[in-house]
Amino acid sequence: MQDKTLQTIIDTFFTCNRAELMEIFNELLNALQTDGVHHPGGLMSRNYETAQANPEIHTLTGNLRDARDAIFPFYWGTDEWYSKLHLENVKGPANYASLIGSLACLLKNPNLCIDTYSQRSNELEVKAITALANLVFYHTDSPWGIFNMGGTISNLYGGKIGIEKVLPQAMSKGLQGEKLAGLVSEAAHYSNKTLAGWLGIGTNNLHAIATDSSFVMRLDKLEEKLDELYRHEVRVAFVIATFGSTDAFGIDDIAAIRNLIDAKAEQYQVPAPQLHVDAAVGWILCMLNEYDLGLNPFGIEDDVLPVFERIQSHAKALQCADSVTVDFHKMGWGHYPASAFIVNRRDDLRLLLRTLDQMPYFSEAEFRHDPALFTLECSRPAIGPYSVMASLNGIGLRGYQVLLAHSLEMAAQLKKDLTALDYCKVLNANTTGTTVLWWVLPKGRNAQEIYARLEKGELTSEERQRYFHEIKHLFDKRVHDLNPQIDARLSFTTAVGYSPHGINIPAWKAVFFNPKTDREVIGQVIRSIEDL
Ligand SMILES: *Cc1c(COP(=O)(O)O)cnc(C)c1O
Repeated sequence: MQDKTLQTIIDTFFTCNRAELMEIFNELLNALQTDGVHHPGGLMSRNYETAQANPEIHTLTGNLRDARDAIFPFYWGTDEWYSKLHLENVKGPANYASLIGSLACLLKNPNLCIDTYSQRSNELEVKAITALANLVFYHTDSPWGIFNMGGTISNLYGGKIGIEKVLPQAMSKGLQGEKLAGLVSEAAHYSNKTLAGWLGIGTNNLHAIATDSSFVMRLDKLEEKLDELYRHEVRVAFVIATFGSTDAFGIDDIAAIRNLIDAKAEQYQVPAPQLHVDAAVGWILCMLNEYDLGLNPFGIEDDVLPVFERIQSHAKALQCADSVTVDFHKMGWGHYPASAFIVNRRDDLRLLLRTLDQMPYFSEAEFRHDPALFTLECSRPAIGPYSVMASLNGIGLRGYQVLLAHSLEMAAQLKKDLTALDYCKVLNANTTGTTVLWWVLPKGRNAQEIYARLEKGELTSEERQRYFHEIKHLFDKRVHDLNPQIDARLSFTTAVGYSPHGINIPAWKAVFFNPKTDREVIGQVIRSIEDL
């Protein structure tokens, strides 16, 4: 080849030019540090038409600044979620210990597929999984798991193991026309529908069990559904319980579900379904397992301390789960993608082995060397383990307790302030999490009474429509009037995950995720509601 470009490419793109890289990293950091200058969501408007019509790639070989220029407008135009006024969802900001971990990972670019492609990074995954398993299961003999790209996939692993348990060798033989079902609560995340569809069970065969007013799966309804399915000879592959529902932070009674599904399996002489727990957001509560309620070292206020006590009892029940989803990129304040799928007993992963016939034994060594033997993915990024171990050791267990305690205190404060307003009603007063769902009705209405009548089934459909319209209208009015410099961004849900008499209840929503969000922000939320 005559072309001299190869050497230029090697020198520019495959040789580490520190000075140039540092310069560009500095520029990107400078752009990041405009934090506070721009209000949430206030950067640049989108330009989708050109993105599609004119994707523009260079013909001639350039340099690293071309790489920078190619992405810069989009980097600049992407909200960092660092503002304390972002209360919409469990999203950002990622912490900087996680950035150190994630950048280190990108610099080496390991592939967790097998350990010859990743060497000690594979060891780091073992460490990160074990650390998280010790937190969520508290004490467990043989936890194991892997990182993947999100809670959806972690839940999918749980569902798949369940299918293999109730229909052995489905991996090779398929579903063979058998009737299979999965169970979740009506407060469960929609990702469970995704996995029911993708695993071949069918979304119609994923049954949503009604919740009670605390957004907890009703055990009487679960029992009814199990009886109905077993009597029709349907194989119940899994129950995916929710530990911290996305909107209301409802927490299913894991221990009671375990007892019930085991008893029913025994009664009908069938294998018990997989009890997978979707703790994508709720897992963080386990950080408080050993908080000393008597000494109360953080000086948590008296009205919030009982929440800590209930959290500890919820968290202990996770030991009854077969497997669990932990999204570190949510309440671990880590970078994407960092979702962990963890089994309580390592042997369960045997059911996912690719070539069970050629692999009659499944030793510890193979688990460690070659996760690709059982993972859905082939190539697998290592950002998860790097983010987790950098964050957990940077911030520390006590640091995470402080972060969580702050979020819980903020949620409690907002609940308290809203409860003082007659025309507002907190819908998830009893949940032990960092989210708040509530109604705002026009002044003069008694929200408490209207909600009670809704629960009793006493509202006419005209009344209901009028109230629901008012709740949405006032939300839209606040959005229209808000001062982006001081007013927090909230979100709106059309179905909170509890539907008495089959009615989907809408609500305003705030998530306390950002450690910078303080009482001043809450005070302004209340003022903005009073001013409507
Ligand atoms: C966010 C969420 C998921 C989906 O997780 P991703 O990481 O976004 O794929 C699943 N379950 C619950 C309860 C969630 O909150």
